[in-house]
Amino acid sequence: MLSVILPSYNEELMIKTTSKTLSDILEKEKIDYELIFVDDGSKDDTWHEIMEEKSTNSRVRGVRFSRNFGKEAAIFAGLAEGQGDCTVIMDCDLQHPPEKVVEMYRLWEQGYAVVEGVKTSRGSESFIHRMCANAFYRIMSKATGVNMKNASDFKLIDSKVVKAILKCPEKNVFFRALSSWVGFKSTIVEFDVNERVAGESKWNGKSLFIYAITNIVAFSTAPLQFVSIAGFFTFLFAVVMGIQSLIRYFNGKALEGFTTVILLILLIGSVLMISLGFIGYYLAKIYEEIKGRPRYIISDKTD
Ligand code: UDP
Ligand code: MG
Repeated sequence: MLSVILPSYNEELMIKTTSKTLSDILEKEKIDYELIFVDDGSKDDTWHEIMEEKSTNSRVRGVRFSRNFGKEAAIFAGLAEGQGDCTVIMDCDLQHPPEKVVEMYRLWEQGYAVVEGVKTSRGSESFIHRMCANAFYRIMSKATGVNMKNASDFKLIDSKVVKAILKCPEKNVFFRALSSWVGFKSTIVEFDVNERVAGESKWNGKSLFIYAITNIVAFSTAPLQFVSIAGFFTFLFAVVMGIQSLIRYFNGKALEGFTTVILLILLIGSVLMISLGFIGYYLAKIYEEIKGRPRYIISDKTD
């Protein structure tokens, strides 16, 4: 059986259309399936829509969070809930083309454990958005050693991969990267991002920025290395300035150079502050992880 996980946050306009489109395609292809909608604490009627859809289509299942826990949490809940031999994760706004699910499924039948959806185009995005996204994916590709440039959350994974992913205990996790990190035989399927049919994107500049920083910290310790590198350069600088000061002292010109002192204090002070900030951020993340709180809390479930 194929499980399709659909994280949904304020998607009341999309639930029925998405469910219908997917069921039609999968039934036509004679693929046994279940659709798992994870309501990520929506503020609109998403849960009601899921319940209604469930009453007309018995293959639909729903999980509802007690509040908004974010898309990654919703994906994890779906993975824990699904009973399929393989699982597809896709957005519930139909931006991930549903007919590609069949293509992914056929590749799985040929023995691939991970089928990654790779974007051929990024849809309509502003220039700045595109630039930031590029920078983010460059950093992430370096951190994971996997080319993430056109990666997406749209993918099919085998049940043994699901098991491996569910074993990763960390709460701050970047699902896209994790599915490559676990390894297994994988291939890709290219797709064009569709326009959103109804509803609106849940992201804005600020939330994307926080998302980017969180994921970089979750997968890479490169910012911490900045601290050592900055320390090394400050030390070199200190040696040069130290020698210069000593020469001035022995030449009897020691009182001059007060501006230099001010500049040095400011420079070293700011490097120290930035470095402490980086360390503090990682510390905060460790603190969050060590509390061991659950990734999400379920308030309702169908059947
Ligand atoms: N989503 C979610 N929780 C959130 C934000 C988004 O489950 O906190 C879901 C959303 O319902 C959709 C998918 O994640 O199915 C992608 O969201 P969206 O379409 O807003 O992102 P975009 O396509 O603009 O990147
Ligand atoms: Mg979308």
